[in-house]
Amino acid sequence: MSTFSFLQDSKEDAAFRRDAREWFEENLPKELRGWSVRPPPELITPWHRKLFEKGWIAPHWPTEYGGTNMPLTQRLILQEESGRIGAPVLSRQALGHIGPILMRYGTTQQKARHLPKMLSGEVHWCQGYSEPNAGSDLASLRTRADLDGDQFVVNGQKIWTTWAHHAHWMYALVRTDQDAPRKQAGISLILIDLATDGITIRPIKTIADDEEFCEVFFDNVRVPAGNLIGEMNAGWTVAKALMDHERIGNASPQLAIDGLDRLKKIARATGAMDDPVFQDKITRIELDILAQAAVFAHTVELANADMPIGAGSSFIKLVGTDTVQEIGDLLLEAVGSHGADLEAIDTPDGPIDAGGFFRQARRNSIFAGTSEIQRSVTAKRVLGLP
Ligand SMILES: Cc1cc2nc3c(=O)[nH]c(=O)nc-3n(C[C@H](O)[C@H](O)[C@H](O)COP(=O)(O)OP(=O)(O)OC[C@H]3O[C@@H](n4cnc5c(N)ncnc54)[C@H](O)[C@@H]3O)c2cc1C
Repeated sequence: MSTFSFLQDSKEDAAFRRDAREWFEENLPKELRGWSVRPPPELITPWHRKLFEKGWIAPHWPTEYGGTNMPLTQRLILQEESGRIGAPVLSRQALGHIGPILMRYGTTQQKARHLPKMLSGEVHWCQGYSEPNAGSDLASLRTRADLDGDQFVVNGQKIWTTWAHHAHWMYALVRTDQDAPRKQAGISLILIDLATDGITIRPIKTIADDEEFCEVFFDNVRVPAGNLIGEMNAGWTVAKALMDHERIGNASPQLAIDGLDRLKKIARATGAMDDPVFQDKITRIELDILAQAAVFAHTVELANADMPIGAGSSFIKLVGTDTVQEIGDLLLEAVGSHGADLEAIDTPDGPIDAGGFFRQARRNSIFAGTSEIQRSVTAKRVLGLP
């Protein structure tokens, strides 16, 4: 069987792919297939649990922390098969972002307390980085945490915090030194239990008609000093390492593979596929996904070997974003005047949501660092431009 990673499956991998496809078919409930937005916690948590019980929830984690150390080819196969069947993309905040950071910078107690519940899905996490005046220029953040005995007192506001209204914990960047000579130097990363007094969470409705993110307000919120990750005032270094993980995760080909599958089904149903020019566009997308998967595999391999990926995380996020947005554009082209429909479109392969995918894809060029910023980083650090 062929893969999206330029590799022909070995005998062992082909058997793994067959098992994975069969398992997804048997275990992924029909109502969880083909979502364009994130399904609500009551639907997604049991699916998380199922993957956990199967041992596939964090195949990239080392075995000492409950992962599998699964070979890269098989991890990619899992991504491909998830995409093919239209499985929802799981929240990455815990397993993809703060989990690996805790493994590297956390204390033994922090790891023991938090990692197992991230795997089992008992505890949901959110990322408190962006603020109303600190997005691309994140180091300008102003939410402050002042030490008072063995507690921080947190005051300020975060915004665009994905799933804060469903999360139990937040990892947050806060200013712990107001007088640091460089704004990056006075920042720390802390873990905040969202059940603490003084926290207000307000969901924000998006154009895709969901409440994916929130505003979060902190009013004299007391956080144990033991919730600091890494060194005090060294949060910027930790934050950058976390953003590398975030960008790599966002470049996974799963969403593109799901989008391509929708595109082919819709194009067959509407007749767009009969047009050779349209067929050519689909072929180009297929080639782009091949390229994306190859770059993704290479970057994951470097990251796993603890080798520096440098500006690779910016480049790969850019490639993944462009591909997914092109698929969204082609979906709209294929459905013509139905592009604005909020309901899924009926096809002989079942109802398919095209407009939702398009709207969802618009977000990719903003979160985890906008495409403009990633282009600047790539220009400077990869191409060496001034
Ligand atoms: C779906 C979604 C989920 C998100 N989830 C989270 C989350 O969970 N946690 C969190 O902390 N944040 C989250 N964010 C916020 C996201 O990280 C920020 O929106 C992003 O970093 C951009 O910041 P901003 O919105 O303040 O835009 P700004 O930084 O104000 O940028 C506005 C525009 O100006 C451009 N621009 C800015 N500076 C430059 C420059 N130097 N050169 C060229 N162009 C520039 C940008 O590219 C953009 O087009 C999420 C965003 C989205 C869309």
